[in-house]
Amino acid sequence: MKIMRNTIFFKRLKIHVAFLFLITVPFQNCKTSKDANVAPVTATPIFTPTPEAAPIEGNPVTYFGALKVVGNKIVGKDDKAVQLRGMSLFWSQWIGKYYTKDVVKWLKNDWSSNIVRAAMAVEEGGYLTNPEAEKKKVFDVVDAAIEQGLYVIIDWHDHNATKHLKEAKKFFAEAAQKYGDKPNVIYEPFNEPLQISWSSAIKPYHQAVIDTIRKHDADNLIVCGTPTWSQDVDIAANDPLVGTNIAYTLHFYSGTHKQSLRDKARTALNKGIALMVTEFGTTDASGDGAVNQAETSTWFTFLDENKISWCNWSIADKAEGSAALRFGASAAGAWTSSQLTESGNFVRNEMKAKNLKFR
Ligand code: MG
Repeated sequence: MKIMRNTIFFKRLKIHVAFLFLITVPFQNCKTSKDANVAPVTATPIFTPTPEAAPIEGNPVTYFGALKVVGNKIVGKDDKAVQLRGMSLFWSQWIGKYYTKDVVKWLKNDWSSNIVRAAMAVEEGGYLTNPEAEKKKVFDVVDAAIEQGLYVIIDWHDHNATKHLKEAKKFFAEAAQKYGDKPNVIYEPFNEPLQISWSSAIKPYHQAVIDTIRKHDADNLIVCGTPTWSQDVDIAANDPLVGTNIAYTLHFYSGTHKQSLRDKARTALNKGIALMVTEFGTTDASGDGAVNQAETSTWFTFLDENKISWCNWSIADKAEGSAALRFGASAAGAWTSSQLTESGNFVRNEMKAKNLKFR
């Protein structure tokens, strides 16, 4: 049933794309030189709801179930590969205003997001400075995601986590005791390690945090950061962690990271590890610059082919290219498309076109 519905849906999508192409062609010559590098509008088909795409009962977590790692894939309750698409929130200490129930609900209902990532800042005035305040923001988002039936990543958003092992163990022990029986929850113990050794520094850190989590939660997915801002997944694949339901973090920014990073991901998959893109941006690696729709589309194709889940960076109203919201967008959600940036609209369209819709 599902396959047939999707087939009809994509046929209709192709018709919409073809139509957009036809109405766009006559205007191509009107482009100014300023527009020369802008991807054609056909790169972002606009989702038009069809009867075949009617919402289904339940929610993403009841539909897919508890996540497991089997070989190089993340699978759901029926042992079929699951690909989740959703949004990452911004550093909690800087733009914590979007860590709300209303935003989680809006992302589910209006964006068809089936996962959300709570990026708990550790340094820079984060958890190390204000543990209770930062933890509360994350737990509020986790509670909202459970209520809405979304998956939620608890992200230790840190570049120097090996220096904060004691604090990380304390935090993840608490999170695992609180949420270990909820299939919604995914742990991410180290957002982006810097260029330090996987085998002698990052791996032992992860192993210690994994052992702590597993004392309280035997099975929820744990996604582990890799060297060089979570790009060296091939290096992690050479010396994998011990344990079950362990995946590895791959991050990219489309304006900077292209085929060579996809090749590294391919190498890691071929060596048998499962990957999750807990964060990617449509811009360059600074989080700013132009939105590269063409390269992001190439990434989407790669991620779809390999059933790799992703979260986009980020739900923020900061003045930078990767931010999804324009300045002043409400902390209660209910954003119009004019309150979304180019990146926000582009990523939302991708989710609405490809994620299942739930009531
Ligand atoms: Mg569990």
